[in-house]
Amino acid sequence: MEMRTTPLASAAHGTKLELTALHFGKPGTGEKVVIQASLHADELPGMLVAQHLRRCFEEHERAGRIHGEIILLPVANPIGLAQSLLSSEAGRFDLDSGENFNRNYPELTRTLIAHVEGRLSADTKQNRTVIRGAMKSILAGMVCVDPLSSLRRALLLQACDADLVLDLHCDYEAVLHMYLGTPLWPAAEPLARLLGVEAVLLATESGENPFDEACSKVWWELAVHFGDEFPIPLACLAATIELRGSRDVTHAFAAHDAKAIESFLIHRGVLAGDAVSLPPARCAPTPLAGSMPIETPRSGVLVFSAEVGEKVRRGDCIAEIVDPVSSEVTRLLSPVAGVLYAREVRRYVRAGTRVAKVAGAEALRTGRLLSA
Ligand SMILES: [Zn+2]
Repeated sequence: MEMRTTPLASAAHGTKLELTALHFGKPGTGEKVVIQASLHADELPGMLVAQHLRRCFEEHERAGRIHGEIILLPVANPIGLAQSLLSSEAGRFDLDSGENFNRNYPELTRTLIAHVEGRLSADTKQNRTVIRGAMKSILAGMVCVDPLSSLRRALLLQACDADLVLDLHCDYEAVLHMYLGTPLWPAAEPLARLLGVEAVLLATESGENPFDEACSKVWWELAVHFGDEFPIPLACLAATIELRGSRDVTHAFAAHDAKAIESFLIHRGVLAGDAVSLPPARCAPTPLAGSMPIETPRSGVLVFSAEVGEKVRRGDCIAEIVDPVSSEVTRLLSPVAGVLYAREVRRYVRAGTRVAKVAGAEALRTGRLLSA
Protein backbone atom coordinates (compact mmCIF):
# COMPACT_ATOMS: atom_id res chain seq x y z
CA MET A 1 0.00 0.00 0.00
CA GLU A 2 1.22 3.42 -0.83
CA MET A 3 -0.15 6.59 0.78
CA ARG A 4 -0.20 9.61 -1.51
CA THR A 5 -1.29 13.14 -0.72
CA THR A 6 -2.58 15.81 -3.08
CA PRO A 7 -2.34 19.41 -1.90
CA LEU A 8 -5.54 21.46 -2.21
CA ALA A 9 -5.84 25.21 -2.54
CA SER A 10 -5.72 26.70 0.94
CA ALA A 11 -8.19 29.30 2.19
CA ALA A 12 -5.71 31.54 3.92
CA HIS A 13 -2.08 31.99 4.85
CA GLY A 14 -0.95 29.56 7.49
CA THR A 15 -3.45 26.82 6.60
CA LYS A 16 -2.80 23.73 4.57
CA LEU A 17 -5.29 21.27 3.06
CA GLU A 18 -4.52 17.93 1.47
CA LEU A 19 -6.33 14.86 0.19
CA THR A 20 -4.97 11.47 1.22
CA ALA A 21 -5.37 8.39 -0.97
CA LEU A 22 -4.30 4.82 -0.22
CA HIS A 23 -3.14 2.97 -3.34
CA PHE A 24 -3.26 -0.83 -3.58
CA GLY A 25 -2.29 -3.07 -6.48
CA LYS A 26 -0.70 -1.90 -9.70
CA PRO A 27 -2.08 0.40 -12.41
CA GLY A 28 -2.59 -1.23 -15.79
CA THR A 29 -2.88 -4.80 -14.51
CA GLY A 30 -6.68 -4.85 -14.45
CA GLU A 31 -9.56 -2.57 -13.53
CA LYS A 32 -9.09 0.72 -11.72
CA VAL A 33 -11.33 1.08 -8.67
CA VAL A 34 -11.87 4.22 -6.59
CA ILE A 35 -13.71 4.04 -3.28
CA GLN A 36 -14.19 7.24 -1.31
CA ALA A 37 -15.69 7.84 2.11
CA SER A 38 -17.53 10.78 3.62
CA LEU A 39 -17.69 13.32 0.79
CA HIS A 40 -20.39 14.75 3.01
CA ALA A 41 -17.89 14.98 5.78
CA ASP A 42 -20.20 14.26 8.72
CA GLU A 43 -21.57 11.07 7.11
CA LEU A 44 -19.33 8.68 8.96
CA PRO A 45 -20.39 5.06 8.31
CA GLY A 46 -18.25 5.06 5.14
CA MET A 47 -15.20 6.26 7.06
CA LEU A 48 -15.38 3.16 9.24
CA VAL A 49 -16.07 0.89 6.25
CA ALA A 50 -12.89 2.32 4.69
CA GLN A 51 -10.91 1.09 7.72
CA HIS A 52 -12.28 -2.43 7.27
CA LEU A 53 -11.53 -2.24 3.53
CA ARG A 54 -8.01 -1.01 4.19
CA ARG A 55 -7.18 -4.10 6.23
CA CYS A 56 -8.89 -6.31 3.65
CA PHE A 57 -6.96 -4.78 0.72
CA GLU A 58 -3.65 -4.96 2.63
CA GLU A 59 -4.18 -8.69 3.09
CA HIS A 60 -5.06 -9.20 -0.57
CA GLU A 61 -2.03 -7.16 -1.62
CA ARG A 62 0.33 -9.18 0.59
CA ALA A 63 -1.01 -12.37 -0.96
CA GLY A 64 -0.68 -10.98 -4.51
CA ARG A 65 -4.41 -11.21 -5.08
CA ILE A 66 -5.09 -7.73 -6.52
CA HIS A 67 -5.49 -7.66 -10.31
CA GLY A 68 -5.64 -3.98 -11.05
CA GLU A 69 -5.52 -0.87 -8.94
CA ILE A 70 -7.62 0.15 -5.96
CA ILE A 71 -7.58 3.68 -4.59
CA LEU A 72 -9.21 4.21 -1.22
CA LEU A 73 -9.92 7.70 0.11
CA PRO A 74 -10.74 7.37 3.81
CA VAL A 75 -11.46 11.11 4.13
CA ALA A 76 -12.78 12.44 0.83
CA ASN A 77 -13.58 15.88 2.22
CA PRO A 78 -10.97 17.42 4.53
CA ILE A 79 -12.61 20.84 4.11
CA GLY A 80 -15.96 19.68 5.49
CA LEU A 81 -14.40 17.57 8.21
CA ALA A 82 -12.76 20.67 9.69
CA GLN A 83 -16.03 22.64 9.72
CA SER A 84 -18.14 22.93 12.81
CA LEU A 85 -20.71 25.42 13.92
CA LEU A 86 -21.63 25.96 17.56
CA SER A 87 -20.23 22.54 18.49
CA SER A 88 -22.14 20.70 15.75
CA GLU A 89 -20.36 19.18 12.78
CA ALA A 90 -21.25 20.83 9.47
CA GLY A 91 -19.98 18.60 6.67
CA ARG A 92 -22.71 18.68 4.02
CA PHE A 93 -22.32 22.26 2.80
CA ASP A 94 -19.22 24.34 2.28
CA LEU A 95 -19.59 27.10 4.87
CA ASP A 96 -17.75 29.59 2.67
CA SER A 97 -19.93 29.29 -0.46
CA GLY A 98 -23.03 27.54 0.92
CA GLU A 99 -22.64 24.87 -1.76
CA ASN A 100 -23.41 21.19 -1.22
CA PHE A 101 -20.15 19.20 -1.37
CA ASN A 102 -21.80 16.57 -3.58
CA ARG A 103 -23.23 18.82 -6.27
CA ASN A 104 -21.96 20.93 -9.15
CA TYR A 105 -19.06 18.79 -10.33
CA PRO A 106 -17.78 19.95 -13.72
CA GLU A 107 -20.07 18.97 -16.63
CA LEU A 108 -17.53 17.66 -19.11
CA THR A 109 -19.60 16.26 -21.98
CA ARG A 110 -19.68 19.34 -24.25
CA THR A 111 -16.00 20.10 -23.80
CA LEU A 112 -15.18 16.43 -24.34
CA ILE A 113 -17.09 16.32 -27.63
CA ALA A 114 -14.96 19.20 -28.92
CA HIS A 115 -11.77 17.50 -27.69
CA VAL A 116 -12.36 14.05 -29.18
CA GLU A 117 -14.16 14.98 -32.43
CA GLY A 118 -12.16 13.47 -35.30
CA ARG A 119 -10.13 11.22 -32.96
CA LEU A 120 -12.63 8.37 -32.53
CA SER A 121 -12.86 5.14 -34.53
CA ALA A 122 -14.92 1.95 -34.71
CA ASP A 123 -12.75 0.50 -31.91
CA THR A 124 -14.61 0.77 -28.58
CA LYS A 125 -11.51 0.24 -26.42
CA GLN A 126 -9.52 2.79 -28.34
CA ASN A 127 -12.36 5.31 -27.98
CA ARG A 128 -12.41 4.70 -24.25
CA THR A 129 -8.68 5.46 -24.02
CA VAL A 130 -9.04 8.63 -26.10
CA ILE A 131 -11.96 9.90 -23.98
CA ARG A 132 -10.26 9.13 -20.67
CA GLY A 133 -7.13 10.93 -21.80
CA ALA A 134 -9.16 13.95 -22.87
CA MET A 135 -11.03 14.01 -19.55
CA LYS A 136 -7.79 14.01 -17.61
CA SER A 137 -6.25 16.78 -19.66
CA ILE A 138 -9.39 18.98 -19.43
CA LEU A 139 -9.47 18.59 -15.64
CA ALA A 140 -5.73 19.08 -15.25
CA GLY A 141 -6.01 22.34 -17.20
CA MET A 142 -8.74 23.81 -14.98
CA VAL A 143 -7.72 26.72 -12.80
CA CYS A 144 -8.99 26.10 -9.26
CA VAL A 145 -7.96 28.75 -6.76
CA ASP A 146 -10.35 28.07 -3.88
CA PRO A 147 -10.44 24.97 -1.63
CA LEU A 148 -13.86 23.70 -2.79
CA SER A 149 -13.18 23.75 -6.52
CA SER A 150 -9.69 22.32 -6.03
CA LEU A 151 -11.22 19.47 -3.97
CA ARG A 152 -13.79 18.77 -6.70
CA ARG A 153 -11.13 18.72 -9.35
CA ALA A 154 -8.77 16.49 -7.33
CA LEU A 155 -11.53 13.93 -6.63
CA LEU A 156 -12.74 13.87 -10.21
CA LEU A 157 -9.23 13.72 -11.63
CA GLN A 158 -8.60 10.65 -9.52
CA ALA A 159 -11.84 8.89 -10.46
CA CYS A 160 -12.65 9.98 -14.03
CA ASP A 161 -10.66 7.16 -15.65
CA ALA A 162 -11.75 4.46 -13.18
CA ASP A 163 -13.82 1.44 -14.17
CA LEU A 164 -15.60 1.39 -10.82
CA VAL A 165 -16.31 4.29 -8.43
CA LEU A 166 -18.09 3.80 -5.11
CA ASP A 167 -18.98 6.97 -3.23
CA LEU A 168 -19.89 6.07 0.37
CA HIS A 169 -22.50 8.29 2.02
CA CYS A 170 -25.37 7.93 4.48
CA ASP A 171 -28.75 9.56 5.05
CA TYR A 172 -30.15 10.89 8.34
CA GLU A 173 -32.08 7.77 9.40
CA ALA A 174 -32.24 5.17 6.66
CA VAL A 175 -31.95 1.64 5.38
CA LEU A 176 -29.14 0.76 2.98
CA HIS A 177 -29.90 2.21 -0.45
CA MET A 178 -28.07 3.41 -3.54
CA TYR A 179 -28.27 5.95 -6.36
CA LEU A 180 -26.87 5.40 -9.82
CA GLY A 181 -27.36 5.99 -13.52
CA THR A 182 -30.14 3.96 -15.12
CA PRO A 183 -27.89 2.45 -17.84
CA LEU A 184 -25.55 1.08 -15.13
CA TRP A 185 -28.11 -1.02 -13.31
CA PRO A 186 -27.31 -4.42 -14.88
CA ALA A 187 -23.63 -4.10 -13.90
CA ALA A 188 -24.48 -2.85 -10.40
CA GLU A 189 -27.13 -5.43 -9.58
CA PRO A 190 -24.68 -7.94 -8.00
CA LEU A 191 -23.41 -5.19 -5.66
CA ALA A 192 -26.96 -4.27 -4.66
CA ARG A 193 -27.66 -7.90 -3.81
CA LEU A 194 -24.40 -8.40 -1.91
CA LEU A 195 -24.98 -5.26 0.15
CA GLY A 196 -28.65 -6.10 0.65
CA VAL A 197 -29.86 -2.64 -0.31
CA GLU A 198 -33.55 -2.02 0.28
CA ALA A 199 -33.99 0.71 -2.35
CA VAL A 200 -32.20 1.49 -5.62
CA LEU A 201 -32.91 4.90 -7.17
CA LEU A 202 -32.14 5.22 -10.87
CA ALA A 203 -31.87 8.31 -13.07
CA THR A 204 -30.14 9.20 -16.33
CA GLU A 205 -29.84 12.73 -14.98
CA SER A 206 -30.60 13.60 -11.38
CA GLY A 207 -29.73 17.32 -11.73
CA GLU A 208 -26.89 19.33 -10.20
CA ASN A 209 -24.22 16.81 -11.23
CA PRO A 210 -23.33 14.86 -8.08
CA PHE A 211 -19.98 13.10 -7.98
CA ASP A 212 -21.06 9.65 -9.19
CA GLU A 213 -22.86 11.16 -12.17
CA ALA A 214 -19.90 13.37 -13.04
CA CYS A 215 -17.88 10.15 -13.40
CA SER A 216 -20.43 8.07 -15.28
CA LYS A 217 -22.91 10.26 -17.19
CA VAL A 218 -20.43 11.47 -19.81
CA TRP A 219 -20.25 7.92 -21.18
CA TRP A 220 -23.91 7.52 -22.07
CA GLU A 221 -24.15 11.14 -23.20
CA LEU A 222 -21.18 10.67 -25.55
CA ALA A 223 -22.64 7.36 -26.79
CA VAL A 224 -25.86 9.13 -27.74
CA HIS A 225 -23.95 11.98 -29.41
CA PHE A 226 -21.59 9.84 -31.51
CA GLY A 227 -24.06 7.02 -32.28
CA ASP A 228 -23.15 3.66 -33.85
CA GLU A 229 -20.34 4.94 -36.05
CA PHE A 230 -18.08 5.59 -33.07
CA PRO A 231 -19.08 3.14 -30.32
CA ILE A 232 -18.59 4.45 -26.78
CA PRO A 233 -18.74 2.01 -23.84
CA LEU A 234 -20.30 2.58 -20.42
CA ALA A 235 -16.75 2.71 -19.14
CA CYS A 236 -17.40 3.81 -15.57
CA LEU A 237 -19.74 2.09 -13.13
CA ALA A 238 -20.23 4.78 -10.48
CA ALA A 239 -22.70 4.59 -7.60
CA THR A 240 -23.55 6.55 -4.50
CA ILE A 241 -24.09 4.11 -1.67
CA GLU A 242 -26.06 5.32 1.34
CA LEU A 243 -24.86 3.29 4.31
CA ARG A 244 -28.02 3.61 6.41
CA GLY A 245 -28.31 6.55 8.86
CA SER A 246 -25.73 8.93 10.28
CA ARG A 247 -25.71 7.20 13.68
CA ASP A 248 -25.27 3.71 12.20
CA VAL A 249 -21.53 3.61 12.83
CA THR A 250 -20.82 0.14 14.19
CA HIS A 251 -18.17 -2.47 13.46
CA ALA A 252 -20.91 -5.00 12.68
CA PHE A 253 -22.38 -2.82 9.92
CA ALA A 254 -18.94 -1.81 8.62
CA ALA A 255 -17.73 -5.42 8.47
CA HIS A 256 -20.86 -6.43 6.56
CA ASP A 257 -20.53 -3.58 4.08
CA ALA A 258 -16.79 -4.09 3.54
CA LYS A 259 -17.36 -7.81 2.98
CA ALA A 260 -20.02 -7.04 0.36
CA ILE A 261 -17.67 -4.66 -1.46
CA GLU A 262 -14.86 -7.24 -1.28
CA SER A 263 -17.20 -9.89 -2.74
CA PHE A 264 -18.18 -7.52 -5.54
CA LEU A 265 -14.50 -6.90 -6.37
CA ILE A 266 -13.98 -10.67 -6.50
CA HIS A 267 -17.05 -10.89 -8.76
CA ARG A 268 -15.45 -8.31 -11.12
CA GLY A 269 -12.05 -10.03 -11.04
CA VAL A 270 -10.23 -7.18 -9.29
CA LEU A 271 -9.56 -9.44 -6.31
CA ALA A 272 -8.72 -13.12 -6.65
CA GLY A 273 -10.84 -15.49 -4.62
CA ASP A 274 -13.89 -17.67 -4.67
CA ALA A 275 -16.96 -15.74 -5.77
CA VAL A 276 -19.83 -16.12 -3.34
CA SER A 277 -23.25 -16.91 -4.74
CA LEU A 278 -25.38 -13.80 -4.90
CA PRO A 279 -28.09 -13.50 -2.27
CA PRO A 280 -31.60 -12.77 -3.55
CA ALA A 281 -32.40 -9.11 -4.23
CA ARG A 282 -34.18 -7.32 -1.38
CA CYS A 283 -35.80 -4.82 -3.74
CA ALA A 284 -36.38 -3.97 -7.38
CA PRO A 285 -34.89 -0.72 -8.69
CA THR A 286 -37.23 2.26 -8.90
CA PRO A 287 -36.87 5.63 -10.66
CA LEU A 288 -35.34 8.46 -8.64
CA ALA A 289 -38.20 10.52 -10.09
CA GLY A 290 -40.53 8.17 -8.21
CA SER A 291 -38.92 8.85 -4.84
CA MET A 292 -41.48 11.04 -3.09
CA PRO A 293 -40.43 13.44 -0.34
CA ILE A 294 -43.04 13.98 2.36
CA GLU A 295 -43.09 17.60 3.49
CA THR A 296 -44.68 18.92 6.61
CA PRO A 297 -47.03 21.88 6.03
CA ARG A 298 -46.66 22.95 9.69
CA SER A 299 -43.99 23.33 12.29
CA GLY A 300 -44.12 21.09 15.33
CA VAL A 301 -42.92 17.99 17.13
CA LEU A 302 -42.28 15.16 14.68
CA VAL A 303 -43.55 11.76 15.82
CA PHE A 304 -43.02 8.96 13.33
CA SER A 305 -45.54 6.17 12.98
CA ALA A 306 -43.59 4.22 10.32
CA GLU A 307 -40.09 2.81 10.56
CA VAL A 308 -37.36 3.01 7.92
CA GLY A 309 -37.55 -0.02 5.65
CA GLU A 310 -41.31 -0.31 6.04
CA LYS A 311 -43.33 -0.93 2.90
CA VAL A 312 -46.13 1.60 3.01
CA ARG A 313 -49.31 1.99 0.99
CA ARG A 314 -50.61 5.18 -0.57
CA GLY A 315 -52.45 7.09 2.18
CA ASP A 316 -50.68 5.37 5.08
CA CYS A 317 -49.79 7.70 7.93
CA ILE A 318 -46.00 8.16 8.10
CA ALA A 319 -45.82 10.66 10.94
CA GLU A 320 -47.71 13.15 13.06
CA ILE A 321 -46.75 16.78 13.57
CA VAL A 322 -47.88 17.89 17.01
CA ASP A 323 -48.32 21.64 17.47
CA PRO A 324 -46.92 22.27 20.95
CA VAL A 325 -49.04 25.40 21.47
CA SER A 326 -52.43 24.57 19.97
CA SER A 327 -52.19 20.78 20.48
CA GLU A 328 -53.40 20.33 16.94
CA VAL A 329 -52.14 17.15 15.28
CA THR A 330 -51.36 17.00 11.54
CA ARG A 331 -51.04 13.55 10.01
CA LEU A 332 -48.55 13.18 7.15
CA LEU A 333 -49.63 10.56 4.62
CA SER A 334 -47.57 8.76 2.01
CA PRO A 335 -48.52 9.98 -1.48
CA VAL A 336 -47.47 6.66 -3.04
CA ALA A 337 -46.95 2.98 -2.26
CA GLY A 338 -43.32 2.01 -1.76
CA VAL A 339 -40.46 1.64 0.69
CA LEU A 340 -39.98 4.31 3.34
CA TYR A 341 -36.21 4.37 2.94
CA ALA A 342 -35.11 7.54 4.74
CA ARG A 343 -36.35 9.83 7.54
CA GLU A 344 -35.46 13.14 9.14
CA VAL A 345 -33.34 12.94 12.28
CA ARG A 346 -34.59 16.09 14.04
CA ARG A 347 -37.75 15.85 16.10
CA TYR A 348 -38.85 19.47 15.98
CA VAL A 349 -39.34 20.48 12.36
CA ARG A 350 -40.31 23.68 10.62
CA ALA A 351 -43.02 23.99 7.99
CA GLY A 352 -41.66 22.89 4.61
CA THR A 353 -39.18 20.34 6.00
CA ARG A 354 -39.00 17.06 4.12
CA VAL A 355 -39.41 14.52 6.89
CA ALA A 356 -39.26 11.25 4.93
CA LYS A 357 -38.77 9.74 1.49
CA VAL A 358 -40.74 6.87 -0.05
CA ALA A 359 -39.40 5.02 -3.11
CA GLY A 360 -42.39 4.63 -5.39
CA ALA A 361 -42.42 2.72 -8.67
CA GLU A 362 -43.80 5.47 -10.89
CA ALA A 363 -41.73 8.46 -12.09
CA LEU A 364 -43.84 11.39 -10.88
CA ARG A 365 -41.28 14.17 -10.46
CA THR A 366 -39.19 16.18 -12.91
CA GLY A 367 -36.35 18.69 -12.60
CA ARG A 368 -33.93 18.52 -9.70
CA LEU A 369 -34.43 15.08 -8.24
CA LEU A 370 -31.99 15.10 -5.34
CA SER A 371 -32.64 16.67 -1.97
CA ALA A 372 -30.73 19.80 -0.99
ZN1 LIG B 1 -24.16 12.31 1.43
